[in-house]
Amino acid sequence: MTSISLNLRSVEQRIAGIATQCGRAPQEITLLAVSKTKPESDITAAYEAGQRCFGENYVQEGVSKIAALSHLADIDWHFIGPLQSNKSRLVAENFAWCHTIDRLKLAQRLSAQRPEHLPPLNVLIQINISDESSKSGIREEALNALAAEISQLPRLTLRGIMAIPAPEPDHRQQLIVCQRMAALYHSLANDYPQVDTLSLGMSDDLDAAITAGSTLVRVGSAIFGARQYPSSSS
Ligand SMILES: *Cc1c(COP(=O)(O)O)cnc(C)c1O
Repeated sequence: MTSISLNLRSVEQRIAGIATQCGRAPQEITLLAVSKTKPESDITAAYEAGQRCFGENYVQEGVSKIAALSHLADIDWHFIGPLQSNKSRLVAENFAWCHTIDRLKLAQRLSAQRPEHLPPLNVLIQINISDESSKSGIREEALNALAAEISQLPRLTLRGIMAIPAPEPDHRQQLIVCQRMAALYHSLANDYPQVDTLSLGMSDDLDAAITAGSTLVRVGSAIFGARQYPSSSS
């Protein structure tokens, strides 16, 4: 086995272990393999080990990998980086998901630019759950109004919410933040039947996120190894 397939198995086992411990079925949690900065050969190795959901942060890099790997037709490509409006078309034309919707204008552009031959783009609203002015995402109080607008857009499907909580070493503090996200998620799911995704949890807060109810965790370096150049401002 390659080291990527071994890493993947161990991340999957970690997720299953946490899920079982808190009384959840491991299948309720999707693992998104974050492949930013990693070569196509690494994605192929993970694909051959069974992984199907991949996350990319940079538009150009993601689009060129999607083109190069188009023969792996059942990959679900998720865009998870900050998105400038002038690059929205590339996301609308190439990805299946966008996790970082933080303004109506961006959602409107993505809906207008989503090609007719593709299914609607799945979108998540990014919440600035730790309320740091430097991070992207909307404030909690703004969620209902933005969700109401986005749910009207014809070429988008609102699937849920996403957050990147501020780094926090204390597990109980992590859990408090994750539970606030889970409460927002459940209230949104109550209003919109198609909402089924809480994108929450990275390597350091996987336990708290899954315990709180995350349905999609985003893991990069634990699968592909450390990155050579730093991640985006996210
Ligand atoms: C890079 C990134 C991840 C994965 O981070 P790792 O530390 O490599 O596991 C998850 N979510 C987002 C939004 C990211 O940008």
